[in-house]
Amino acid sequence: MYEDLFRKTLNIEDPWVLESVDFDPDAKRIELYLDFAPGTKFDCPICNKPGCSAYDTQEKEWRHLDFFQHKAFLHCRVPRVSCDE
Ligand SMILES: [Zn+2]
Repeated sequence: MYEDLFRKTLNIEDPWVLESVDFDPDAKRIELYLDFAPGTKFDCPICNKPGCSAYDTQEKEWRHLDFFQHKAFLHCRVPRVSCDE
């Protein structure tokens, strides 16, 4: 399946996983859905402290480089982390 192709070409690494890929040939769109494993700890985006828990997520969508003549979009829930620093 093409999940494996995208996993390799996008270089997706732990804790991120490619959940699914939707391909709409008529709309010439590829939708790539990323997620992270439950319980994953992240670095604080402000002070870089590691091991912060995600308390909330926010759905985001980005336009990726085109995949040949198809528009590619990444969908991901971005973690919001709590940091005591
Ligand atoms: Zn912090």
